[in-house]
Amino acid sequence: MSLWGHIPPPRVATLRNICSADGITLDAVLVLYFPAPASFTGETVMELQGHGGTVVQGEIVTRIVALGARLARPGEFTERAFLNGKLDLAQAEAVADLIDAGSTAAARAAMRSLQGAFSARIADLQVQLTSLRVQVEAAIDFPDEELDLLSSAGFKQRLAAVLATFDSITVAARQGALLREGVNVVIAGKPNAGKSSLINRLAGEDVAIVTPVAGTTRDVLRQSVNLDGLQIHLSDTAGLRAAVDSIEAEGIRRAWVEIARADHVLFVSDATLNSTTAPPEIGSLPPGVALTWVRNKIDLLGETARRDEQGGVSCIHLSAQSGNGIDLLRTHLKAVAGFRDSESGAVSARRRHLDALARAAAAVRHAADDATSASMLELYAEDLRVAQNALSEISGEFSSDDLLGEIFSRFCIGK
Ligand code: GDP
Repeated sequence: MSLWGHIPPPRVATLRNICSADGITLDAVLVLYFPAPASFTGETVMELQGHGGTVVQGEIVTRIVALGARLARPGEFTERAFLNGKLDLAQAEAVADLIDAGSTAAARAAMRSLQGAFSARIADLQVQLTSLRVQVEAAIDFPDEELDLLSSAGFKQRLAAVLATFDSITVAARQGALLREGVNVVIAGKPNAGKSSLINRLAGEDVAIVTPVAGTTRDVLRQSVNLDGLQIHLSDTAGLRAAVDSIEAEGIRRAWVEIARADHVLFVSDATLNSTTAPPEIGSLPPGVALTWVRNKIDLLGETARRDEQGGVSCIHLSAQSGNGIDLLRTHLKAVAGFRDSESGAVSARRRHLDALARAAAAVRHAADDATSASMLELYAEDLRVAQNALSEISGEFSSDDLLGEIFSRFCIGK
C-alpha cells in the first residue's frame, strides 16, 4: 500500500505514521483494516483514527485523495452497506435516526430498528401474506375448491391474524415515528390571550417575551419541549388580529402559514373576555385542522382547571400564569398525538413506512371485503400482491432510485 508499503493485519488496531509526499510526518494514526466482506459496507475498508483537528485532518484527507481516493458522498457508506445486502432500507434509515435521535427513547427505538426488529416484523408479515397467496392461487387453479377456501374457518382466521399483525406493527411504528419526528403544535389566538406565557410554561423557561402590550410576538418563535419522550415542536405565532403595521402584518401572515402546516393547533383565548362558548376565530381556522381550545387566565375568574368539550371542540381551562391545568394539557397533547408513555417495543419508523403499512393493510382489508364470491378470487390474489409490494418498499426490495437518492442524501458525510 502506497502509504506504508504493506497492509496492516486485519481487525487489529495498528499504530502508523502518515507522511506527506515529501516525507514529513503529518500525524500518528490508528489503522484498522477490514477485508471484504467482514465490514460495515461489505467492502474492503481501511479506517484511520487520527488525533483530530481540522488542519491535520484536512492534510491527511488531501494526502489520501492525492493517492487516488475520493471523498464519500453523504450517506455513501450506509448506501453501500444497503446495496451490498448488509442492511435493508429500514435498517439503513435507522442509522440516520440513531445519529439524529433527539431523546433517549428515540435512540432506543432507532437501535431496535437498526438491529432488525422492525424489518423482522415486516418479514413476518410478508411470510403470512405469501402463505395466503399460495392458498388463494391454488384455489384459482382448482376452481372446485374456490368457495370452500373463502368460507373455511382456517382461512378466515389466518386473514384475521394478518390484520391483527398489521395493527400491532402500525402501533409500534407510529410510536417510533412520533419519537423520531415529534408533533408540530402551533399556539395561536388573539394578542394578549397568553400564548407566550403558555409556551414558557410548557417549556419550563422564558423563551417568549411576555408583556401586557398587545402584539409583542411578531415573528414565529419555536421551541421544542420533551413530554416524557414525545418531542412537541411548539411555535408561538403573532396574535391573529388586524395588524397595526406592516411588520405585524407579516407576522400574522406567517402565523397562518404555520397553522396550515400544524399537526395540532392550540387556540388560546382570554377567559375573562370570552363567555364559555368557543371564540368565533376558531371558525376561521382551515377545516380539518386538529384543534384544542385553551381557555386561559381562569385564575382571574376563580375557576378550577378542567378538560371538557365545548361545541364539539376539546377545551382545557387553565392558567398559564399559575400553571394550574398545565398537566391536563400535557396529558391531552400526548393523547391526541397517539403517544404511549411506555416506549418499550417502539421501532424507529418514518412517515413513508407508516404510509406503506397503511396502503398494504388497506389492500388486505379490501381483499377481505371482496371475498364474497368465488369469481373475486383473482382480485383477491391481486390485492395481496399489492400489499406485498407496498411492504417491500419498507425493506427496500421494491424502491425507486429516486427514493434511495432522497433517503441517503439526507445523511451526513462520513456515514
Ligand atoms: P400573548 O400576546 O398572547 O403572547 O400574551 P402574553 O403571554 O404576552 O400575556 C399577556 C398578558 O397576560 C401578560 O401580562 C401576562 O402576564 C398575562 N397572562 C398570561 N396568562 C395569564 C394567566 O393565566 N393569568 C393571568 N392572571 N394573567 C395571564
